[in-house]
Amino acid sequence: MSLNEKTYVKLFSCVLISKGYSKILLIDIQRKDYYSFSTRYASILDALETGILNSQIDTEFNSLISFLRKEELVFNTSEPWKFPSINTALQFRNTISNVSLVVSDHTIKNILDKSFIEILDSLMIEGIFIHVNMEVFNKVEEVVTHLSTCVARSIELSLSYDIENLNFYKSLVQKNPRINKIYVHNSKSNTVEKLYEDTFVVYSTKTDNLFKKTRSMSKDYLQINRTLALESYHYHTYFNRKIFFDEKGDIMNAPEYKKSFGNIKNIRSTEDILKIVSSSDFQKYWSITKEKIAICKDCSYKPMCVDNRLPLPHKLNNQEWYHKEECNYDPYIGEWK
Ligand code: SF4
Repeated sequence: MSLNEKTYVKLFSCVLISKGYSKILLIDIQRKDYYSFSTRYASILDALETGILNSQIDTEFNSLISFLRKEELVFNTSEPWKFPSINTALQFRNTISNVSLVVSDHTIKNILDKSFIEILDSLMIEGIFIHVNMEVFNKVEEVVTHLSTCVARSIELSLSYDIENLNFYKSLVQKNPRINKIYVHNSKSNTVEKLYEDTFVVYSTKTDNLFKKTRSMSKDYLQINRTLALESYHYHTYFNRKIFFDEKGDIMNAPEYKKSFGNIKNIRSTEDILKIVSSSDFQKYWSITKEKIAICKDCSYKPMCVDNRLPLPHKLNNQEWYHKEECNYDPYIGEWK
């Protein structure tokens, strides 16, 4: 389209604007990429979201507009109203999306029971994270095969020690092709090995399983996807729709929220689980968006960040939450540690 006085420049609908204290990000949720800009571009980026007449763009923004055109983040149109911004409303088809569980001598009998898979299926679980304790390591193949019949689209496996046999790890993925990551603890190195196109083994010298530590947020953990970005506008992206079974079989929202709401041994049906997860206490942290959390509310990475720190109620402001541990990112200076 040639540029005339009726030509508008508009951001593509798949490009979200995320404003922070020191930076503005344009997040392309389709191409899974993001671009960082100074906050002095706030008003022009806002105008581009709805569309602005090319003739009205101040010449001081010429280089910005050229960059946005080059990266295909904006397009020309004479009818910007025909391209509405993305609808940020979100409706989930399931109450629980992800299950994390520890396979131990306390939980293995219940996990290997056929009814456990039936319950996961009727909950329409999307992802499973399984940690297999040392004392039941000889059952890992049985657990992996058992969970291969489940509807979950993605499975991550965490093993308590390294048997140093790549063929064994490959055989686990062959038994259950939905496994996309195997975390191996007590290994000799901190490396990553590719098993298949989208499947990796992540070796760690650490002895702790992933549920026993608070992860420090880092740039590497940022994720770009549509559901996560939209979820971040309404919910806490770590606690929302999650359930965790610890090594004693205790049922929690997440390892960081150390409150038991029942035990796997007493679960007979989907209704038993739904009764637990529907309580307001179980969902205590689900609606705490980053907008309600001190410091995070000023961060432009909000739509890409899954932060597992437990929010604490602010002492002076009952509408706001905070974290005891600092994040590795400082939104006020715009730098990672
Ligand atoms: S400040 Fe908050 S939103 Fe920003 S990266 Fe850290 S945890 Fe995520």
